[in-house]
Amino acid sequence: MAQDLHLLTLTQIAASLRNGDFSACEITDLLLRRIEASDASLNAFITVTADQALATAKRADETRAAGKAGALNGLPLAHKDIFCTRDVLTSCGSHMLDNFVAPYDATVVERFANAGAVMLGKTNMDEFAMGSSNETSFFGPVHNPWDLERTPGGSSGGSSAAVAARLAPAATGTDTGGSIRQPAALTGTVGLKPTYGRVSRYGMIAFASSLDQAGVITRSAEDAALLLGVMAGFDARDSTCIDHPVPDYVAGLSTSLNGLRVGIVRQHFDAGLDGQTALAVKAALAVLEEQGAILSEVDLPNLDLSVPTYYVVAPAECSSNLSRFDGVRFGHRASDPKDLFDLYCRSRGEGFGAEVKRRIMTGTYVLSAGYYDAYYLKAQQVRQLIADDFRKAFADVDVIAGPTAPTPAFKLGDKTDDPITMYLNDIYTIGANLAGLPAISTPCGFVAGLPVGLHLVGPPWGEEALLRCAHQYQLQTDWHLACPEAYR
Ligand code: GLN
Repeated sequence: MAQDLHLLTLTQIAASLRNGDFSACEITDLLLRRIEASDASLNAFITVTADQALATAKRADETRAAGKAGALNGLPLAHKDIFCTRDVLTSCGSHMLDNFVAPYDATVVERFANAGAVMLGKTNMDEFAMGSSNETSFFGPVHNPWDLERTPGGSSGGSSAAVAARLAPAATGTDTGGSIRQPAALTGTVGLKPTYGRVSRYGMIAFASSLDQAGVITRSAEDAALLLGVMAGFDARDSTCIDHPVPDYVAGLSTSLNGLRVGIVRQHFDAGLDGQTALAVKAALAVLEEQGAILSEVDLPNLDLSVPTYYVVAPAECSSNLSRFDGVRFGHRASDPKDLFDLYCRSRGEGFGAEVKRRIMTGTYVLSAGYYDAYYLKAQQVRQLIADDFRKAFADVDVIAGPTAPTPAFKLGDKTDDPITMYLNDIYTIGANLAGLPAISTPCGFVAGLPVGLHLVGPPWGEEALLRCAHQYQLQTDWHLACPEAYR
């Protein structure tokens, strides 16, 4: 067996398994050993499900031998610890749930398992997915494989670090304001956030229900297409999941970019974007143009309102969603409460970290009588303006392209004292969540040895064009193949 199987993408592993080059047990075992060797320094995993993974891999090999292999048979991947996994700790990065063993699987987990995928473990994340650097996790920060002193982004930072360090070829993530795409950009991986309603949120612990969407972090657009085809589709258990046909995303990748209309947002290149990152993104746009894409400028006049709007809507919804963690039904429970009020106060006071508390307080405030109209209602109106800007832009273009994050990965600790600077990291990604649009980040270069990402946003159900654009770009470039030296 070759030594460098960890460098293979999911698609390559699938082909090798079909050819019998190696077995699901062999690749699973190899990756588990890599996790054991590297995770002490990365902290990408909260739970490693080694025994379960090996047992699933064995079943996958048997299923294949019996000629019944599913679409992801024997393919190893990791799940963000926000997805409920039956009989396995599902902590959501919080002390509140650090004793919660889910009694059922999330739909995403179930669909991957039914297709034959092998779960390696559960990845670290910002507490309840609130953060952009993975530093709000109760389980400690995750380290970026490109520079251990830096953040891998957040909130899906465990997933991005695991994929970048070749501990897992792919991992799930969730994206409420950028939590798949920003960590993908900061680790040189591919991050796909589908259209709101494309993928079921059943069993995915809620942060802000009108913005949350499940997606994947992979090393190629091809792998993202493969996984999206399995995870997408109607689920009666999520009332916001839309019954819309699921195309063959992989088959759609090969069409050339000839004639694809790509919009460049004027506001994206204003002050705030790191100069070197801007150059890398512009070079990527030139590659798309060489492939036949037609570039033009588009205007998103209300884009600068997206961060303030998000930081009213998301905390409001989170304050409501997180009210269920009261120490009574599940999760952390304070010991020896004096009375019910004391039980509530101390269970929540002890169980939640500082950032989650900040959001709950902001959210409760903007929803309270007298402030609702001034803040929450106003934010919903601005949200509509932002969605309208996108709708108008998509009358003229098929895809909107720009930077994913304003800078490459910053140092751990650099922004923890200043929530506003931290929040501004999502300036380019949040708009897609507010408007419910699909978006992808693909590696497009390096700045001072750190990866940066090209961000592509599409109209609703536009995943095919995004994946195709990213795939065709990856055929011309090799940024997505770069692997941090210590993990080759
Ligand atoms: N960084 C943003 C926040 O802190 C987005 C998080 C996310 O997408 N889950 O809310």
